Amino acid sequence: MGWSHLLAGALLQVVQAAPPPTPPVVGLCRFETAALSFAGSPAEQARCLMTPVGKRGVLGPAPSRLPKGLAPLLEGRSALPDKTMVARLLAAENMDIGGLDAPVSRARDGDPAAPLARYFVIHDTSTPYYGDDPFPADVDRDAKVNSFAYYFPANADPEKFPVAHLFLNRIGQVLVGQPLSRPWRATKLETRVIGLPAKGLFLHIETVMPRRRDPAIEGWNDAIAPKPGFSRTQYDRLALLYIALSVRAGSWLIPAQHATIDHGLPQAHDDPQNFRLNDFDKALRRRLRSLG
Ligand SMILES: [Zn+2]
Repeated sequence: MGWSHLLAGALLQVVQAAPPPTPPVVGLCRFETAALSFAGSPAEQARCLMTPVGKRGVLGPAPSRLPKGLAPLLEGRSALPDKTMVARLLAAENMDIGGLDAPVSRARDGDPAAPLARYFVIHDTSTPYYGDDPFPADVDRDAKVNSFAYYFPANADPEKFPVAHLFLNRIGQVLVGQPLSRPWRATKLETRVIGLPAKGLFLHIETVMPRRRDPAIEGWNDAIAPKPGFSRTQYDRLALLYIALSVRAGSWLIPAQHATIDHGLPQAHDDPQNFRLNDFDKALRRRLRSLG
């Protein structure tokens, strides 16, 4: 056998051993599989990922800069708050997220050598669905809207349900769906595009928000969300969760939205609807001030 045959054989082996190609850079905010990160600095990533999500997932312009609560955190100018003080706040609000001592999930399905979760992904549940009926008069305090029962179905497949790490309703109650230490995927980018390397890199928070049908759009749809989309209490508790999960992750998480993560992929979701970054930021600043 000549050298050329040997070389050809070796090349063939290399080709056969290579994994199926993964697109190196994906989506609106350009996820880079090798780096397990969207493109840019944490602040640049947050600006892209917090692009306003409009009806049917149509995006507005990305914020030109981060608001003044988030900016110092993601620009590396502000340390994490004291763990004991954050634990005290969680206890005062009756928010049990499984404590602050255990680490969050790691990427690559919990590979001990992989990075800890980096992204705080905000969803809306788009449930309950009112069809052609109006929303209840007090959408923030309505018992049907605030029920967690839809998300914890009896006898459900534990590999599929509950669909997120945490659930937050409009009166500020929080339920754990999946332990924060469990690698869990809830976007198409993770499941359909990146695959296993992404599993554990994202922490998923479902915020309760009803939907109804837009009669201007033919057929079934759940395009109409309440305005404002989030209750004041939801912003407040979401801000505390952002702080608490960052403490567990050991660094400030990068906030993201389901719709911006999946933008450009087929059947991308439109959630969260009507999330106002400035309202979240105000709640975040209030919480950070109370932590000194
Ligand atoms: Zn979602």
